[in-house]
Amino acid sequence: MRALYIGRFQPYHLGHHAVIKQIAYEVDEVIICIGSAQRSHELENPFTAGERYLMISKSLREDNVLNFYIVPILDVNRNAIWVSHVESLIPPVDVVYTNNPLIERLFKERSYKVHAPLLFNRKEYSGSEIRRRMLNKESWTGLVPKAVVEVIKEINGLSRMDDLRRSDT
Ligand code: ATP
Ligand code: MG
Repeated sequence: MRALYIGRFQPYHLGHHAVIKQIAYEVDEVIICIGSAQRSHELENPFTAGERYLMISKSLREDNVLNFYIVPILDVNRNAIWVSHVESLIPPVDVVYTNNPLIERLFKERSYKVHAPLLFNRKEYSGSEIRRRMLNKESWTGLVPKAVVEVIKEINGLSRMDDLRRSDT
């Protein structure tokens, strides 16, 4: 059994991590799609696909989860063909795990089985909340796996976000 999990992972956090570890335990293989892969260096999407790839793979490997494949997916900006686009890039999957209502809708229309994983501490384990804290110099490192803290440090992510917020006026 092979499962699909999709996110933007800006950044990868402990909510994603808990869900993927659970799925990886239940199925043979998890395909993790990094959505909006072309986006980076924006306040809403600060990290590149490669940086997000590192965050996910290091975090899972450190917890001895090895049955995953990561596939970056570019936006096509046409919802009606988006599932075919994803299908063209991933191995065949039996089930899709998502809490996103649009993704659920699009895969159900193509006859996929869709499961909604439980949400973990959604108030704090949230990409938007973590980006907000990074910008405001509030504490965020407890909301992501240790490997993500290391990657963000390696790429100088906080200083990148400071620059993204600056304007030329
Ligand atoms: P953003 O605030 O930037 O949208 P996000 O935290 O929602 O970030 P996404 O990458 O958009 O993260 O989400 C990918 C998937 O992870 C979605 O299906 C989302 O519902 C799910 N998810 C997000 N936070 C949690 C959480 N705390 N527990 C379980 N699943 C989560
Ligand atoms: Mg989201």
